Amino acid sequence: MPISAVVGANWGDEGKGKFTDLLAQHADFVVRFQGGSNAGHTIINEYGKFSLHLLPSGVFSPNTHNVLGPCVAVCIESLKKELQELERCAVPRPTLIISERAQLLFSYHKLFDILEEERRAGADFGSTRSGIAPFYSDMHSKIGVQLHELSDEAALRRHFELILPQKNILLRELYRHPGLEIDELLAEARVAREFLSPFLCDTRVLLGKALQQGKQVLVEGQLGTLRDIYHGIYPYSTSSSPLATFAPVGLGLPAREMKNVLAVTKAYSSCVGQGPFVVELDGAEAEELRRRGGDSGEYGATTGRPRRVGWFDAVATRYGVEVQGATEVALTNIDVLGYLDEIPVCVGYRNRKSGEELRHFPAQTEQGQMEPILVRLPGWKQDVSGVREFSKLPKEARDYVAFLEEELGVSITRISNGPRREQVIQR
Ligand code: GDP
Repeated sequence: MPISAVVGANWGDEGKGKFTDLLAQHADFVVRFQGGSNAGHTIINEYGKFSLHLLPSGVFSPNTHNVLGPCVAVCIESLKKELQELERCAVPRPTLIISERAQLLFSYHKLFDILEEERRAGADFGSTRSGIAPFYSDMHSKIGVQLHELSDEAALRRHFELILPQKNILLRELYRHPGLEIDELLAEARVAREFLSPFLCDTRVLLGKALQQGKQVLVEGQLGTLRDIYHGIYPYSTSSSPLATFAPVGLGLPAREMKNVLAVTKAYSSCVGQGPFVVELDGAEAEELRRRGGDSGEYGATTGRPRRVGWFDAVATRYGVEVQGATEVALTNIDVLGYLDEIPVCVGYRNRKSGEELRHFPAQTEQGQMEPILVRLPGWKQDVSGVREFSKLPKEARDYVAFLEEELGVSITRISNGPRREQVIQR
């Protein structure tokens, strides 16, 4: 059985969690291959409404194994909180497996994230302050702590003796903050070790065997293409790669196994945090779309921040779909647009100064440098959230889907018309 992926084509918050939860019902393994608890996937099912940050979205499917791979930032606080929330809502205890090569996110990663964002005030990255950038900086500087290393306390002490002088100079001299103490870090590592040890294994071997045995492995991207560290809107990107093509690398599995890539995109655009967002609306038009969007308005699942909103951006989404190597597309939130007489779609960017028109997504744009070239399609002016067959959608809605499909060059095979699991139209 090949690997399948559910990934985001945009800035995140496309509705990946909903599709992963849906497809997880038929998957043996649901795997997170990057990122940490710095994004939230909203899932609404028979147990209630959840915002998952670190747990894979397969935790509601009793026969599914949920895996955190080697490139995930493992935050104990988040894991504990999310597992407790599942227990509180009577969700059967999920099977959780964590790679022994994954690294621990320490409290000092969060501390550095907060202090640096404060120092940059006004020019900050819009970080969720979950410690992700300092965590991946340490990983790539080879001073992170892999989970299997937690069991050797003497080696850990030597590790901290080496890295703390550098960290404490920054803390004391740059941020005017007290330094870190080795004994406190060792205590933190001990708590993590006790909590994590039942979950640890070599996930590469486990998943490799599963693939050989014909099991279904579903990997889940944590953010969208435009937040990818390599291909996103750097530096307003995240610090890892949420691309389907990265998943085999991140998990240590053969790339040839990655066969199905479902890229999720919204029927309009939303964006949490900083960075160029050409289709951004403001004023009453934005407020109305934000209020009507998602399951209860467009507000970040992790941060509660109001999301920036705009019309569907075919330029950015085509890029997002291509970079993900999407074999199919899921279009979500189509129900949200039922209030509009006409629905604008951005089919190109125009440079405000030079007048140059672009159809491809540029490497560098500053906010305000480009304006969207819009076409307007007729709206359907009705509630479509109860429709379950494509042919029963109003003609204008079918035409809207067909128009986006043409722009993206990849089939839109699934349409989501409401936040609940069953609100999906298979095409
Ligand atoms: P993710 O991180 O990609 O899983 O997305 P988020 O959970 O951050 O944001 C998606 C939002 O859209 C959540 O509020 C979902 O409940 C909601 N949602 C997903 N699909 C639909 C849909 O088809 N219609 C509506 N109205 N809301 C949806």
